[in-house]
Amino acid sequence: MVVTRFAPSPTGYLHLGHVVNAIYVWGLARALGGRVVLRVEDHDRIRSRRIFDTALLEDLDWLGFVPDAGRHPVRRQSDDQSVYAEALDRLRAGHHVYACDCSRKEIGGGPYPGTCRTRGLVEVPGRGVRVQMDPEEDSGDLLLRDRDGNWTYQFAVTVDDIRDNVTLVIRGEDLRSSTGLQIRLGGMLGRASPARFLHHPLIAGPTGEKLSKSNRDTGVRELRAAGLAPADVIGRAAAAVGLLAQGTPIEASDVARLFPNPG
Ligand code: GLU
Repeated sequence: MVVTRFAPSPTGYLHLGHVVNAIYVWGLARALGGRVVLRVEDHDRIRSRRIFDTALLEDLDWLGFVPDAGRHPVRRQSDDQSVYAEALDRLRAGHHVYACDCSRKEIGGGPYPGTCRTRGLVEVPGRGVRVQMDPEEDSGDLLLRDRDGNWTYQFAVTVDDIRDNVTLVIRGEDLRSSTGLQIRLGGMLGRASPARFLHHPLIAGPTGEKLSKSNRDTGVRELRAAGLAPADVIGRAAAAVGLLAQGTPIEASDVARLFPNPG
């Protein structure tokens, strides 16, 4: 059975970009007879906020997108740290995992040059943890846990997609560059066959820039306050990426019909 997921980060309010993702996730899951897992990606303890977490669940509910396991309990990455610690130990068994005390500033914008790879540093708070990638990634050895003790996005999402038995990852074009890395990391973590990945178009802002949380007229809460119904908001998001004609409302329970030949 196809299992996909909706995996928002509670670092801002839901906007039309999230709604586009939800349309693809729920629409394709329903069209393929699959399931949707909801996962709150709060691995970044500094940027994640409870207020956004609560708001995103409320907004999703208002829109009518319901995960298959029901609304409760929602799984958060912060629920169980031992999952990532265990995955790290699994990696250690077959790969070179090492502590790293390079700061972002020292590394600059380029690939990690492997400075700490052979230093034999002890893993203590305040140091990051990396794994040597083989073959070498464009970004160099992957950071798994940062110097603040946060599991990184790449590591947490790969561990969780394995744990949740996700077979089809559906997300925006902006994450395409992470996909090869996540497939390789999944293999290193023991995943026998990789998930399939589908990347959908993104909504561009008024001047073609990527839609962000700062675009006031695209927030689900703002649109709701302006009097739009859930079907209007979903219709607007679908139209913005060419799935529907402009102005056609559509209910969350009906989005599978946007994918008549899901193959
Ligand atoms: N949590 C990520 C975000 O909200 C999405 C991760 C993913 O789909 O892999 O941007």
